[in-house]
Amino acid sequence: MPDQNKRIVVVTGGSRGIGRAICLAFAEQGTHIYFNYFAPGDFAAAEIAAAAETEKLVAGLGGLATGLSVNVALEKDVTSFFKTIVSEAKRIDVLVNNAGITRDGLLVRMKEKDWDAVLDINLKGAFICMKVAAKTMMKQRSGCIINIASVVGAAGNPGQANYVASKAGIIGLTKAVAQELASRGITVNAVAPGFIETDMTAALSDKAREAMTSQIPLRRAGKPEDVADVIAFLASEKARYITGQTIHVNGGMYM
Ligand code: NAP
Repeated sequence: MPDQNKRIVVVTGGSRGIGRAICLAFAEQGTHIYFNYFAPGDFAAAEIAAAAETEKLVAGLGGLATGLSVNVALEKDVTSFFKTIVSEAKRIDVLVNNAGITRDGLLVRMKEKDWDAVLDINLKGAFICMKVAAKTMMKQRSGCIINIASVVGAAGNPGQANYVASKAGIIGLTKAVAQELASRGITVNAVAPGFIETDMTAALSDKAREAMTSQIPLRRAGKPEDVADVIAFLASEKARYITGQTIHVNGGMYM
């Protein structure tokens, strides 16, 4: 059972990539981290193993993490996820909406199902998680929400109309919810990563990777920890007067 003195942190998509780094950044801070991932059906051994690895790595740093398979795009499943957390832990201090996918393609060839999948997980998922978690945070009169956007949500990117729309949506959604929840002592911010080395960007060829890196003033791709450290700061007492902002973490590739 969770230690009720610990800060309760919820991370969506915490099994891999940036989400895992976020869990690890909180691991040493006396928190209980609840994270989700999505392992549908009988062929999800890799997803389950990745979640178990996050739990193990957090435990290795002296922290506590609990991973549950939940599709963030389904309100019923998200509601039951948060119900489990609140019944065990009684509160939610931090929510990081990190789960995200890409289904790239040029506009004229983009299938409706690829548009829907990206908007459902990246944008509607964040909306549902905030809606459910906010009820608990409002009662507490405290909380911190951080939504993961992307540099392309501000700059645009050809071949990613669905993804760009979802991330631009995250930036607007963050501002609206920040204005709604500020009077209850809840901050809401977005972090917009640039080009970060994770499974999401692993499919790029070496040539494409070099071309991308040459456009970054700091001359390297970002690491998941570069993003996670900023999230840990935004969730800390030191960031208490920051709300409704989008913090870009991109090595200078978009200013
Ligand atoms: P990643 O390595 O592909 O990891 C994605 C995570 O989201 C996984 O834990 C995955 O779990 C989870 N997830 C996917 N669909 C889900 C669903 N329906 N419900 C719950 N969890 C789900 O991605 P990443 O690169 O770390 O990206 C994390 C976030 O940063 C995303 O929002 C992404 O758009 C954003 N971002 C990334 C970059 C970059 O360069 N990597 C740049 C800008 C923004 P399963 O494995 O179980 O599916």
